Amino acid sequence: MDCLFCKIIAGEIPSTKVYEDENVFAFKDINPIAPVHYLFIPKKHISGAAAVNAENADVVGKIFTAIAKVAADEKIESGFRVITNNGEDAGQTVPHLHFHLLAGTKMGWSPETGV
Ligand code: AMP
Ligand code: ZN
Repeated sequence: MDCLFCKIIAGEIPSTKVYEDENVFAFKDINPIAPVHYLFIPKKHISGAAAVNAENADVVGKIFTAIAKVAADEKIESGFRVITNNGEDAGQTVPHLHFHLLAGTKMGWSPETGV
């Protein structure tokens, strides 16, 4: 499949891995918008949040479990944010479900200004 994140999982495109297990892969965002900016993705291709369903939803819990573990390891439990963009209007640029983990700075809360 011609999917950037599937190629990253397969090791065909290099990434800086921060976490991996049987179902979940996480790596540093190539264009970070916060001091900590990682992407958590399911190893099985799902095109985005709108494609989550009863059959594939288990991996979302597994991703959040991985996020909690990485947050504890990185000692950022006091302040982190998890975002998924779905669809063009939300700014989704890679059609493989991914959760941005952002931390390491004081974050505002406005969809207009971003972090
Ligand atoms: P989104 O805009 O929510 O679809 O997020 C896609 C994210 O993937 C952006 O934050 C990009 O910086 C990031 N990205 C794109 N290509 C790569 C890559 N090769 N390695 C790591 N992150 C990437
Ligand atoms: Zn994919």
